[in-house]
Order: sequence, then structure tokens, then C-alpha cells
Amino acid sequence: MAASQEKVAAPQARAWHSLEREAVLAETGSGHGGISEEEAARRLEAYGPNRLPRAKPRGLAMRFLLQFHNLLIYVLIAAGVLAAGIGHVTDAAVILLVVILNAIIGVVQEGRAEQALNAIRDMIDPHASVMRGGRRLTIGADEVVPGDVVLLEAGDRVPADLRLLKAHNLKADEAALTGESVPVDKSTSPVDAGAPLGDRFSMAFSGTFIAAGQGAGVAVATGAATELGHISGMLGDVERLTTPLVRQMNLFARQVTVAVLGVSALVFLYAVFAGGYSFSDAFMVMVGLAVAAIPEGLPAVMTIALAVGVRRMASRNAIIRQLPAVETLGSVSVICSDKTGTLTRNEMTVRAAVTAAGRTDVEGAGYAPEGRFLADGAPADIAAYPVVEELSLAGLLCNDAHLRHADGNWLVDGDPMEGALVSLAAKAGHDIDAARQRFTRLDVIPFDARHRYMATLNARGSGAPVLYLKGAPEQVVAMCARAATAEGEGAVDADYWQRQIEALASDGQRVIALARRVMPEGCTEISPRDAEEGLTLLGIAGLIDPPREEAMKAVAECRAAGISVKMITGDHAATACAIARQLGIADEPRTVTGAELDRMADDEFRRTAREAAVFARTSPEHKLRLVEALQSDGSVIAMTGDGVNDAPALKRADVGVAMGGKGTEAAKEASEMVLADDNFASIVAAVREGRTVYDNITKVITWTLPTNGGEALTIILAILFGLTLPVTPVQILWINMVTAVALGLTLSFEPTEAGAMRRPPRQAGQRLLSGRLLWRIVFVSLLMVAGTFGIYAWATSRGLPVETARTMVVNALVVMEIFYLFSVRYVHGTSLTWRGVLGTPAVLAGVGTVIAAQFAFTYMPFLQGIFGSRPVSLTDGAVIVGAGILLLVVVEIEKRVAARFGFVR
Ligand code: ADP
Ligand code: MG
Repeated sequence: MAASQEKVAAPQARAWHSLEREAVLAETGSGHGGISEEEAARRLEAYGPNRLPRAKPRGLAMRFLLQFHNLLIYVLIAAGVLAAGIGHVTDAAVILLVVILNAIIGVVQEGRAEQALNAIRDMIDPHASVMRGGRRLTIGADEVVPGDVVLLEAGDRVPADLRLLKAHNLKADEAALTGESVPVDKSTSPVDAGAPLGDRFSMAFSGTFIAAGQGAGVAVATGAATELGHISGMLGDVERLTTPLVRQMNLFARQVTVAVLGVSALVFLYAVFAGGYSFSDAFMVMVGLAVAAIPEGLPAVMTIALAVGVRRMASRNAIIRQLPAVETLGSVSVICSDKTGTLTRNEMTVRAAVTAAGRTDVEGAGYAPEGRFLADGAPADIAAYPVVEELSLAGLLCNDAHLRHADGNWLVDGDPMEGALVSLAAKAGHDIDAARQRFTRLDVIPFDARHRYMATLNARGSGAPVLYLKGAPEQVVAMCARAATAEGEGAVDADYWQRQIEALASDGQRVIALARRVMPEGCTEISPRDAEEGLTLLGIAGLIDPPREEAMKAVAECRAAGISVKMITGDHAATACAIARQLGIADEPRTVTGAELDRMADDEFRRTAREAAVFARTSPEHKLRLVEALQSDGSVIAMTGDGVNDAPALKRADVGVAMGGKGTEAAKEASEMVLADDNFASIVAAVREGRTVYDNITKVITWTLPTNGGEALTIILAILFGLTLPVTPVQILWINMVTAVALGLTLSFEPTEAGAMRRPPRQAGQRLLSGRLLWRIVFVSLLMVAGTFGIYAWATSRGLPVETARTMVVNALVVMEIFYLFSVRYVHGTSLTWRGVLGTPAVLAGVGTVIAAQFAFTYMPFLQGIFGSRPVSLTDGAVIVGAGILLLVVVEIEKRVAARFGFVR
């Protein structure tokens, strides 16, 4: 073994593409059955895991420093320096404290958001199929080592650089490596040693995708030693935590900052030249104003809200690959879903077998290979039905699935429909393993959604080999020249089969037809041409695949939420329509087939796309056209997919949704979201979370801007009217430090509001700062100003010292912000409910922290020294709380009046 390791010591140094297969196997110390598990473990140790090194995350110090790279922070630091320069040392220290605190919180929050995203990315790590010790295994793609024989099929992402050993119509999409977007035909013959990458047809390169066909290859380079590794060196940079909304907010925050600086400068000039303020006092007022009005924390808090959404979606099995999808999900107006496995359980059982002689029903549940055959309701001896017997044998041989008995359950490895056919064969008395051994498979045409059938060539001892085919019944029946009968063969009665297919399909059953063709002796290969002529129809099988319970509920939720659900399936129209009805997608779902779509002109196609609910017998190309048609009126589309051919539609959809279980790597790569459980209900759960995230972002803004506005307006009015400042600049700094984090942030953790899925989807591109929100900012700012001046006037009129009055104003501002927070928690309804009052743990923790901080501010001598605060009496405290309650009541009345007059957005 040591010798073999030496041979592969520098795998990338060879021109593997120019060597013969056997030479490559010898040099990599491998064979057609791969290397042993032990050897693989040793090589994993020697070569390291098969992945590109991750870009090094930024160091803590760097991330801390980056927090200061922000316009407001520059302003604050400059202000601090100037304040120290003119002798306001305490003020300078407080400013410094605010800046540092802000940076620490920024680092912690950003780290948590990034962690959430990274953890989620690890949930969709790709897998690879390899041969080890002669057995087929599924391993993590990062466990592939040089010498591993890797099996490839359409949709796979090639896990390492492979020298191909087998290639069956194999095509690879190498755009990631060569930029060439047309898939390249692969073969196993050596090519010239000097051939450029794109012409090395005998190789499959890491990071490229298999576009079609099947193949196998021996790994000659892994990890950073691959061609991809040479080019990119490392995995892409850590994804930026940004989305269109965050960018919109960043821009807005910058505009506000500039405007506020302008206004502050004007106020400064006014204070110095008209207000009689000293230069240094006016300067501090300007700083206080800037701090009060600039929504510095907003973009960060929005990012938190998005990260919370990502985490909640992951816990509902919806894994976000692209952060912006969190937002887009909230505005989805159409969900286009596959049927099988997404809306249905994908647990199939054969219920009926129909031959030219008539129908036999099959008993049994799940995949258990037990159950009787019934003819006309009475148990039937299968020996009397030779065609049913052969039909079930065909279903067993033209099949890649295996049944497994574990913990009393029968499970399928492979396609559930094929699993059901294995079970049928067992019920018909075939010995599964023995039959598969005896009728060795010589060749296969894999199932492809375009031609909708699968065929195998099976040996029969010394006799001529036989081709077995199974596929979509209309096609197969049309391809068959004759039909099998107990006595031999007869003509195909097209009407009879048509009726039988309709009868099964309209009951919601999936129908599959089976056929055979005896091939000439010595035949070892088959092509689609062999499969499409001279066939003899054995019969059809009907399989049930019940709808998922939770999908029915999710469909109902979608209807309430104004989201239309469309089923796009390769299955028969009658089957699809029956299942759609069971799911409640529509009462009378309009069903169109792919063939009908093909005959439509563009505008009719668009209209049909909008009106029909079920699209049957479609191919992946139809999905792309459907997305485009649906998007033409501004709808926001979520579209599911699993196959390699679905990738264009997934990319085109606003939210491409790939199946985590049965989906190919190509589909996942093209999508924004991956479903861990392949379940339609998880899409709807993600939409609900998406709406929640948008609501919470709106709440954060609705709370932040008016509270900032209230503080700023208080200062401006005092200066303009030549009044004593009701709050000092440092006190404003204090309020910002305490409330922006402890209160504003809590809103990004709000749970979903009750009505979130009972209103129509938000229009795409709707502005965050709606007219309603702008009105809110003005209205609440004015209420807060009234509160502060009211409290201040009331305190001073009773002869209380200015310091005490200011302490009361600071407390009143904070109390009003707390009560306003409770109002904002419900955008779409009243907050005056028990649930509203009780809040969430996040809200309660935030409010608790702020209250404790305010007590310290008011009564702790140390803080009194810094902020010039004084103790407040109990009755004054009660009045302050009263001001908060009053504000809440007024805002709630406004909410109700606005709702009555339909002024909601
Ligand atoms: P769906 O949208 O239900 O997933 P598919 O595109 O997978 O539909 O399948 C379309 C049709 O092709 C099925 O109704 C069935 O008749 C046929 N089919 C599906 N899988 C296989 C298979 N493994 N072998 C043969 N025929 C198949
Ligand atoms: Mg399918």
C-alpha cells in the first residue's frame, strides 16, 4: 500500500488525459472497483480533505476596526476630539464610550449573522457516489481521495478531477472552468497531451456539472490540486451580508446623515449668532443633534432581522443559499411546484395491473412485498395470469431501486415508483435477487424527462436477450406494435388502453406502461431507436401516491394569503388534475398539457399561464417559458425543480427552490433556496418567515425614525425659541446608547403576526418609506416633542431645578420610546391585547435592561456626576409613565382611525 501511495504522490504532475485508462488506474493504485475503505482513509489523511481552502475570515481586530468605517462614527470621533480640545472632557469620554460600545455590538452582531449563514451553508454540502472495495457508496464530496472511482450522472457536480473510465452519452457543462457554455461531449479515449483544458475530453473536472448521460472516472486530483483549485485558489469570499433592502436602507441612512449634518450646522450657526450660545456649548448641541437624528444603527439591525429570518427558515427546512431570497420570499405571489414528492408523499404502491385481458387489483400497503392479486374482487392465482407475471418481471428488471427491511418498515433505496414495482414483483412471486441475477442487465437507457421512458437489455441464459421498457403510457402504447395476451400476441386496441389509462389516472393514480422486445441473439447494446420500435405491450400499472397532509394545509394557507399555487408535472393530465383537486389547489383546476402549450401563441400562452392551475406532461423547457410568462405582469415567482434541465427555470424564477433530497447538484447550484425535506409546506413556511422579516424590518424603521425625530426636534425647537435645553447633549448620547440597542434591536426578533398570511402579497419593489411611514415619523415625533416640553414645563413651573427637570425629560423620552415600541409590535392590528402587553422574551429583556439603566441614570451618584442627573420623586415618576401611556393610547387611536379610512400602507 505504501508503494501505491508513492505512485500518486504528485498526481497533478501528470498529463492524465493522454494516458490509457488502465495506465491511470495502475498509477493511482486503483481498479474498476475503486480502492479499499482503509486505503481511502489513509489517503484522506495523506492528501487532506477534498475542498478548497476557505478564504480566511477577517480577524477580530480588523472587524472591530471596520466598525469605525462609517460616516456617523467619523463625525462622532471628530466631535469627541473637538470636545476634548475645548475642555469638555466628560463629554468627550462619553462620546468615546458610545463609539466603542457601538463597535463592540457591531462585531458581535455581525459575527452572529455570519455564523448563522455559514452553519446553514454547511447543511447543503454536496455528496458523491464512489466505488470502494467494489461496492457503491455515497460519501461527502470532501471525502473523495485520489484513486477513488467516482460515478457520475446527469445533474452531478464533479467532485474532483477525474480521468474517465466510462462515458455513456456523457456531457459536461464546464462553464465554471473554461467559460464555455455549450456542454462538452466526453469520452474515454486519451487525447493529445498538449490539449487545452476545454479539449481534454477524457477528463471530468472538479466544479463542473454533468449535463447529460452517465459515466465513471478515477480521481487524479482533489482539493487545491484540481484545475479549479489552480484557477481560484480558494473558495469564494465570505458572502456579503447585504440585500436590496439593506442597500436601500444604507443609502437612506447616508442621505439622512448628510441632511442632519447640514441642519446641525445651521442650528449651530443660529445658536452662536442669534441664540447667544457660547461657541463650545453650541458645538455640543450640534453634536447631540447629530447623534439624536442619525439612524446609525438601522442597517445593522436590519441585517440582524435578515439573519434571524434565515435561521428561522432553516429550522423549517428551508435553507437559504442567497440572502436576498429572504426578502423576495416575503413578496412571492405565485408558487409553481412539482407534484411528485413535493405535493405528494412520494410513497408509491401499485394498486392495479391492467393487461389486454383486463384489470387485476393489487392489495397491500407501502412497499411491503405482501399482498394478494384480485380479479373482479376475488383473490386470483397469479399463475393463471402469465402476462401479469411478465409485466411484474419487466417492472423488476427495468428498475434501479432496492427494497430494504429495517425496524419493521420497508424502505426504498432509489426511485419510489421503482420501489413499488419491486414490491409488485415480489407479490407476483418473483425472487427479487435471483431474478435480477438470472436476467443480467447488459445495457440501459436511463429515464429522461424528455423521452419519458427507461429501457434495459437483459440476458436470458443462452436465449436471445430481451429489452424491457417502462414509461409514460400514452407514448409507450403508441410505440407498441402488438399487445401480449395469455395465448401470445394480439393487435393493440388503442381505445381499450385509452379508457384504462383514463380510469386509473382520473382516480389520481400514476400510470406506467410496460413493454418488451426480444432482441436478436448476441445483442449487447441498445439505443433509443431499438426501444422505440417493434415493442410488445405487456400492460399498464396504476400506482397511488397520496398527497401530503401538510401540503393541503399549506395550499389553503396560500389561498388565504393571496398566493396562487400552480402544479407543474411530467405526469398524466388526469392524474395531476385529480391530485390538484385533492390538495385544494382549485375547485375545478384548469389543466393544460405541454403539447397544448406548445401550440399556443405568446399572448394566449401568457393568459393560460396565469389562469391554469395544473400543467401536465410538461418538459423542463416549459417551466422556463411559464416563469417568464408569469413574471410578465410583475408577479413574483417561486419555482421548484430537481433535475439538471430545471436549472434555467430555477435561475430565472425570483426564488428558485431546489429539492435537497432528490435534487441534483446542478439544480441546487441554480437556486436561491434548498428544501431539506423536499416538502411544499416548507416553501410556504419560508414565505411566512419572509413576510415576517419584512414586517420586522418595517417595525424597526417605524420605531427608530420617529424616536430619533422626537429627540432631534426637541433640541431644534429649544434652540429656535431660545428656550433652555430640556435635555443636554450628553444626555442625548445616553438615550441613544441605551435605547437604540436594547429597544430597537428587539423588534428584529418579533414572531409572525397573526394576520401575516391573511393579506395579499406585498408588491415587489414597494418602497420601505411609504407615505404612511413618513406620516408616522412626523406624527410621533410631534407627540414626543409635546411630551418632553410638557414634562419640562410642568417641572420647572413647580420650581424644580433645571437638572431635575432634565432628568425627568430624559426618563420621559425613554418611557415614551418603550410604550411606542409596544405599539409598533403590531403593524396590522391593535397592540392593546394581552399578547401585546406580555411581549416576547427579547422585548422583555430589552425593556428590563433599559429600565434598570434609567434607574441607574437617575439615582446612581456616579452617573449623576457624569450626566448631571438628579433623583426624581415617586409621583413625578408616575407622571412620566403616564406620559408614555398617553402616547401609546393616542398612537393606537390613530392606528384605528387610519385603518377605518383604509390608510394602511
Ligand atoms: P413528475 O412531475 O411527476 O415528477 P416526471 O417527469 O418524473 O414527473 O415523470 C413523468 C412521467 O414519466 C411519469 O408520469 C411516468 O409516466 C414516467 N416516468 C417517471 N419516472 C420514470 C422511470 N423511472 N422510468 C420510466 N418512466 C418514468
Ligand atoms: Mg419526477
